[in-house]
Amino acid sequence: MSTPRFPLPVNQLAVQQAVLEDLPSPAPCPLPVPDPTRAFWLSPDANPLATEGSTGPITDDADVVIVGSGLTGVGAAYHLAELLKDRPTKVVILEARDFCSGATGRNGGHLTANPFHEFVERSTRHSTSAAVKAVAIEEYTVSSLLDIIAKHDLAGYVDLVQGGRITLLVSDEEFADAKRDFDAASSAGVDLSQIAWLTADEVAKTFGVPHPAIQTPGNNLWPLKLVTKLYGLAKSRSPNFSLALHTHTPATAITPSTSGPRRWAVHTPRGIVHTTHVLHATNAYASHLLPNLASAITPTRAQVIATREHGDRIGQERMEAWSANQGFEYWFPRPRQEGEESGPLIILGGGREVASPEYEFGVADDSTVNEKVGKALRSVLPGVFGGASSEWKTEQEWTGIMGFTKLGDPFVGPVLDASGNEAPYEGQFIAAGYTGHGMPRAFACAEVVSQLIAQKLTESSEEWKAPDWLPEHYLTWNRIHRVV
Ligand SMILES: Cc1cc2nc3c(=O)[nH]c(=O)nc-3n(C[C@H](O)[C@H](O)[C@H](O)COP(=O)(O)OP(=O)(O)OC[C@H]3O[C@@H](n4cnc5c(N)ncnc54)[C@H](O)[C@@H]3O)c2cc1C
Repeated sequence: MSTPRFPLPVNQLAVQQAVLEDLPSPAPCPLPVPDPTRAFWLSPDANPLATEGSTGPITDDADVVIVGSGLTGVGAAYHLAELLKDRPTKVVILEARDFCSGATGRNGGHLTANPFHEFVERSTRHSTSAAVKAVAIEEYTVSSLLDIIAKHDLAGYVDLVQGGRITLLVSDEEFADAKRDFDAASSAGVDLSQIAWLTADEVAKTFGVPHPAIQTPGNNLWPLKLVTKLYGLAKSRSPNFSLALHTHTPATAITPSTSGPRRWAVHTPRGIVHTTHVLHATNAYASHLLPNLASAITPTRAQVIATREHGDRIGQERMEAWSANQGFEYWFPRPRQEGEESGPLIILGGGREVASPEYEFGVADDSTVNEKVGKALRSVLPGVFGGASSEWKTEQEWTGIMGFTKLGDPFVGPVLDASGNEAPYEGQFIAAGYTGHGMPRAFACAEVVSQLIAQKLTESSEEWKAPDWLPEHYLTWNRIHRVV
């Protein structure tokens, strides 16, 4: 089989991985820059909490300080509110910029579980059971969030679209890898009954695109709006649970608390918050407060455009999301808005493969865009669907910072020192390093760290048991002596 040309370089995943593993020892990540590019999702009327708690006195005492207000940080607040609803508990969220203005507020909007992605590699590197759990955690996360959306009738508010996903296989190598992963996952008992393989002819007939593909369930939504609702649900969960949010309040250092009963002093330009527990929900930026993670979590800049179709190639009624070229490119058409006359607005991310040799690794500045990447992004839809570039008009462009780990999987659990000791960081936890694929993982990882924190707060003597869906290599204590 030979597949037609994709407009951008193909088969770059292994090359990118080699570059990541070979990066020279980096400096710790700086704080988020104060003047980021404006993401489509972060329009002022969509972000009622943008500057919440940014003026006035800062809450100076807490049981738990959560640093970061993305899906992980707010997800943890949601889980803590649930777990600790019967116990007086004070939680403070600190956010360096506007509410949820990190990766969660700037991403591609895909909330989709990968059904068998990298199954063979994960089986070889960890175990078949870990590869099965890597699928399970994504399905668990997606279904948990969809349940919350359904229970609170939020589908309209968050613009949920459950149109499925078409994954284009744009090279023979990508096709062969997908087949191999599918077969291995199937042999391991993963339920793949909802996956359909489409031939290039079938894809051409239905979508006008000449590549073979896989069709899977998939969801898209407005991530900031979901996180805003999660915050509201956490805040109103129980009178016992007090939740404060201070935006525009970066945590600049964490030192042992020298006054009062709390263990840690979280320093900010507005004063100190004394706390017993800290959750680092800072993803790409984790090494700013934890410099020993500088080579473990690499800030990596991703770029997105919002582009409108002025022809009729995607089709007004089609709501499928797309992924292509080993996941480097991903896009979906936004639900049609009232009064829109031309084609759908398409949110399209990717293009990093033209930013070789370093694929935007080490870039933590989301106040600018990479012109080369922007040009590549503009070539994707005309290249895939055909037609002149003038049929696609870019209306907005932005960047955001992902946190890459060498395994591609996050660190979840207590913060440990280089030898694996918890004592120097007692009471500090982390869930970070989703490697550009956090929407179907962050909320469940936040649940894990919340369980661990709740166990400490309640001084429970019951041994914590990892949930069935958690790949155990995500846990910090299983990671320390291995390739990170
Ligand atoms: C452009 C782009 C597109 C993406 N597309 C997708 C996608 O379609 N699907 C998908 O699954 N994943 C996608 N991802 C990845 C996904 O968005 C992330 O994995 C996920 O949002 C991580 O959530 P988080 O809460 O851990 O991190 P973030 O959302 O980045 O939140 C961390 C927060 O911490 C704050 N912070 C950092 N340091 C400090 C400090 N010292 N003090 C106070 N606050 C601090 C930051 O400002 C930020 O708001 C994309 C990422 C990017 C950048």
